[in-house]
Amino acid sequence: MKTLRLIMGDQLSRNISALHGIDPDHDLVLMTEVWDEATSVRHHQQKLVLVLSAMRHFAESLRNESIRVDYIYLDEKNNTGSFSGELKRAIKRHQVEKVIITEPGEWRVREIIEGFKTTPGLQVEIRDDNRFLCSQAEFTRWSAGRKTLRMEYFYRWMRRRTGFLMNGSEPEGGSWNYDSSNRRALTKKLVIPPRKRFKLDAITVEVVNLVEKMFSHHFGDLESFGWAVTRAEALEALQDFIEHGLPWFGDYQDAMKSGEEFIFHAAISPYLNLGLLIPGEVCSAVMQAYNQGSVPLNSAEGFLRQIIGWREYIRGFYWMYMPAYKKTNYFAATRSLPSFYWSGDTELNCLRETIEVTSRNAYAHHIQRLMITGNFALLAGIEPSQVEEWYLIVYADAYDWVELPNTHSMALYADGGLLSSKPYAASGAYINRMSDYCSECVYNPRLKLGAGACPFNYLYWYFLIINEDRLRPNPRMGLPYRNLDRMSDEQKYMIKQQAEVFLAQIDSC
Ligand SMILES: Cc1cc2nc3c(=O)[nH]c(=O)nc-3n(C[C@H](O)[C@H](O)[C@H](O)COP(=O)(O)OP(=O)(O)OC[C@H]3O[C@@H](n4cnc5c(N)ncnc54)[C@H](O)[C@@H]3O)c2cc1C
Ligand code: SF4
Repeated sequence: MKTLRLIMGDQLSRNISALHGIDPDHDLVLMTEVWDEATSVRHHQQKLVLVLSAMRHFAESLRNESIRVDYIYLDEKNNTGSFSGELKRAIKRHQVEKVIITEPGEWRVREIIEGFKTTPGLQVEIRDDNRFLCSQAEFTRWSAGRKTLRMEYFYRWMRRRTGFLMNGSEPEGGSWNYDSSNRRALTKKLVIPPRKRFKLDAITVEVVNLVEKMFSHHFGDLESFGWAVTRAEALEALQDFIEHGLPWFGDYQDAMKSGEEFIFHAAISPYLNLGLLIPGEVCSAVMQAYNQGSVPLNSAEGFLRQIIGWREYIRGFYWMYMPAYKKTNYFAATRSLPSFYWSGDTELNCLRETIEVTSRNAYAHHIQRLMITGNFALLAGIEPSQVEEWYLIVYADAYDWVELPNTHSMALYADGGLLSSKPYAASGAYINRMSDYCSECVYNPRLKLGAGACPFNYLYWYFLIINEDRLRPNPRMGLPYRNLDRMSDEQKYMIKQQAEVFLAQIDSC
């Protein structure tokens, strides 16, 4: 039977289930650049270059194996601009009777694909995405009967299943989690390795020209583009991180520093999410370095937790609660996203630096995303869907399945606690402890109120005051509320006044 294998832009793995059993004599692969996807939000220009260039390179690598690839370019005259339109055209063009697809990562695209099943005379086979270590069915089995789905328990279950860092049934070193030793602040003496960057080849240059021509109004700079666009390059980036970043990853995982954009982070999420790297091989490379003694346990454990814990958990969580949970808004937040999230034009130095880095690299590391831009959006009561759209636009690794739970649930607590036991809300003291941003800021992180006080300080207390009915009953919020209770009514009144004046200012800019 003549079969079409549809490969989507984030499914660029040779071993992906949709390609299993491909018969080069009868089957062909369809890859299509579609306008609807390129413009579903105003993606960062670097993300567009990365995805389109990686797709074109992947198609070339399949052709080198003598696999027939029907590749539709974005600016092709007859391109209908949608998955359904392109699939219909391809079915007619090639007279195929069957389509094989790997399940898409995103709810919206899954709906489109499910719609193909009604095409008369066409068989549609949707296969599991074999690139995750935990399938959707396995996640559902793990979650059955649990009152809350906490990542830590999922992670321990995954450690046992995979055997990574296990001594029989016991965790290596006697502890499951070394997070408490992963909070060191950077010192001046520490040398941070430069990020591995890749030169643009002819294919990427062509895509850069296309993006400059068609998407120059989208967010972000293109000049500093240096992402890997092939599997070979992504493997090089991984190896570079294992040698130069991983040994220090654990200690400095939460640290932030002006001018240091990647610190000891891997910057491999865009490759994992596109399929250029597979989580299992990343973990094996980490284990190899650990077993050779070149990486300490807190780094190996801390990094594995991100991959087999957080990443897999977030994906299972997404499919468990979509689509209804996307609409939740626990704090009834309604403020519009301030314009400085796009321009970086703000006096709050931590925000300015994070937004500028994001524009330059289509990347910011986890603590910048969670504790700077995310924390501010939470404290300022910005409407969740606007924050989510921003995160989906600005990062090279952003796809709904991973961006949404991280933003909606982890950063904004908009689901009321399905993912976290309490909101990740913090004052300027936290940012001052974990970064050097405050030393260059017009505000003072030690001042709670009055002229020059750090806005994160009074916004933090304001957040606790206005959300008291929802948060005070939470046992994990006992300490902050005890501290609030120590304040006089006058202090609380002044906090409210200053916070409301500040928020009115950002509303008007
Ligand atoms: C508000 C917010 C939005 C986010 N949006 C995205 C997104 O759109 N896409 C995305 O891939 N990650 C997202 N994350 C998670 C995390 O910030 C990024 O995966 C990480 O910063 C990527 O950089 P890195 O490769 O240097 O990661 P490292 O810090 O080196 O971590 C290694 C890997 O672990 C995985 N990982 C770590 N934390 C998470 C997590 N919370 N969720 C899923 N995977 C994780 C990633 O694959 C990452 O590459 C978001 C986090 C927050 C707080
Ligand atoms: S003082 Fe406040 S606003 Fe300024 S950098 Fe520090 S935390 Fe950010």
